[in-house]
Amino acid sequence: MIVVEDLHKHFGGFHAVDGASLEIAKGSITGLIGPNGAGKTTLFNVVAGVLPPTSGRVLMDGEDITGLPPHELFHKGLLRTFQIAHEFSSMTCRENLMMVPGDQSGETLWNTWFGRKRIADEERALRAKADEVLEFLTISHIADLKAGEISGGQKKLLELGRTMMVDAKIVFLDEVGAGVNRTLLYTIADAIKRLNEERGYTFVVIEHDMEFIDRLCDPVIVMAEGKKLAQGTLDEIKANEQVIEAYLGT
Ligand code: ADP
Repeated sequence: MIVVEDLHKHFGGFHAVDGASLEIAKGSITGLIGPNGAGKTTLFNVVAGVLPPTSGRVLMDGEDITGLPPHELFHKGLLRTFQIAHEFSSMTCRENLMMVPGDQSGETLWNTWFGRKRIADEERALRAKADEVLEFLTISHIADLKAGEISGGQKKLLELGRTMMVDAKIVFLDEVGAGVNRTLLYTIADAIKRLNEERGYTFVVIEHDMEFIDRLCDPVIVMAEGKKLAQGTLDEIKANEQVIEAYLGT
């Protein structure tokens, strides 16, 4: 589904991504692991259009998407989750979901004068969709809480929920497990698995928590020094000498 070809991202003379080539299979939950500074987040940001590459190509279903801005990738169904921005913390969880841009008409003058009913219908549909997403994620009980008041794990679920407000095909998740308690971590893992199995989402997950990786990810790609070092099941990766060396070397 995604092919990364000889990707480079340099910051001045520093090669954060240094000739990475890898493939993400449609329907997979691919784990991306590696020592700190390996270039995982930078690779994510280049693929998701947040940073332009220095060189190399990214293909999605055979189409060259290198350097496309996030909103264009968004329309193609490629999403990277982001932390809930500070400005949205005083809005409720439901409102946060309803804010995700879709194809609603918005407040144009025409709509203000002639389209009130249509806007009301769209708002009702958006609200129903948001409630369905909250239910899928088993967090209906936080619908009316302000996003700034919920726990770290619930925020992660809400971030995932935003990808469900549009028709995502592939979602890039950066450290879902960081600072989240075990129970919620399993809820998040379960939501990812169900989105994958029931709705056909493909996931690429950067994660340090090996239990989380073990529960979810196949294959696992290991990055070190800006490129792919190895790929396989977690057990294969754990037995790989080069991988062990890369981790011990940091
Ligand atoms: P990882 O996610 O694997 O820990 P990163 O992609 O965050 O690795 O970082 C790879 C390297 O690139 C790190 O050494 C980091 O300091 C450097 N780096 C990342 N972003 C920038 C930037 N905007 N400017 C300069 N160096 C950066």
